[in-house]
Amino acid sequence: MRSVIKVKIYARRTKTQLFKQALGNSRFVWNKLLEKNKERYKKEKKFLFYPDMCKEITKMKEEYPFLKQSPSQTLQQIARKLDRSLKDGIKRKKGFPQFKKKSRYDSILIFPQGFKFEGRKLSLPKIGWVSIKDKITKKKEWERIKASAKQVWIKEEVDGFFAYIVYDREPEPKEKNGEAVGIDVGIKNTLTMSNGEVISLNTKRIMALVRKAEKLQSVIDRKRAINKKRGIKNSKRIEVLERRRDRILKKIQNIKVDFYYKVANHILNNHEYVVVEDLDLKGLKEAEKGSKVIRRKVNKYLQYISLSEFFRILEWKAELYGREIIRVNPKDTSKTCSNCGYVNHELKLSDRVFKCPVCGLKMDRDLNASINILKRGLERIALSSGHGEYMREMVLNREPIRRTLAL
Ligand SMILES: [Zn+2]
Repeated sequence: MRSVIKVKIYARRTKTQLFKQALGNSRFVWNKLLEKNKERYKKEKKFLFYPDMCKEITKMKEEYPFLKQSPSQTLQQIARKLDRSLKDGIKRKKGFPQFKKKSRYDSILIFPQGFKFEGRKLSLPKIGWVSIKDKITKKKEWERIKASAKQVWIKEEVDGFFAYIVYDREPEPKEKNGEAVGIDVGIKNTLTMSNGEVISLNTKRIMALVRKAEKLQSVIDRKRAINKKRGIKNSKRIEVLERRRDRILKKIQNIKVDFYYKVANHILNNHEYVVVEDLDLKGLKEAEKGSKVIRRKVNKYLQYISLSEFFRILEWKAELYGREIIRVNPKDTSKTCSNCGYVNHELKLSDRVFKCPVCGLKMDRDLNASINILKRGLERIALSSGHGEYMREMVLNREPIRRTLAL
């Protein structure tokens, strides 16, 4: 299966200058090709696709000699990317893709061939040798990655230049144990599992960072407005502030991703089947009925915690380990009694405990939901008898076990 590993690049200034130039050229070529496409469409209602765009690039190299410094395959890859975006836009009636703005971080160099590895060094066409470092990968694994590398991507991020190595990874199937678990994703506790385990992300720390980033953003906006009045275009001060903001956003991203990988490993190590809700509409669905404040809170939460990212990681890891992820309908998972099936429509978002007026069940709201999710999953996979026993073990009035993963 396809996998990507990210490694940091250590290079002299002369080399990073070459990266910067090449990334700038990529952005330039993307914008030029997009502009040409828009003109062509206006005149003839036709698009320029990959072969035409490659011809355009050859012409552009004559007109703008600095493009010759770019490895030519990276420019062709831009044409390929734009070709895909255009076709996608046509298919989904989304219109043209966006122009690349001046931000240095949204450009990418793609090398489909011509790269070489030697020890912890990477060589790229027209760039030469640079050192790469990745603390996690063991030597043996690293040799395998190098041998099966398919592409190398270069990106600039707030904390330096990175190479993303796309390679073929051998699946690492785990032993099948027939265990199943349901997972509820909530606002208060990040994850509640049907076996009673609760795993939460340190949202306090994240929200503190979010507030910091938002404060910086408002300062940036104010300074921009003042500069606009005065007719000043570029400001060093704003650049510094933006850099600081980007570093904070990166920090948030790193905390999240790290947490998600750990949780995914933890869950998949012990369970063959993992049942989750089809998340797409869940947060919004719950927020609809809450007050305005709650809706804002939920939206903010979803924006920064981005659980869809967690599910992406979970699914990818499940494929690697030969585990199965089952998505079930999220309707009323919180409102249904996990013991007798009664649907309690009176339950509000603020009710932390689920109380069943029919059978008297009293249970933590999220735990109750996670058991319902597991049940729906078990119905779906129609698992054999062993799980019936497991379900009966779910005792009334059970309290969740709070557990925080060491991060
Ligand atoms: Zn009940």
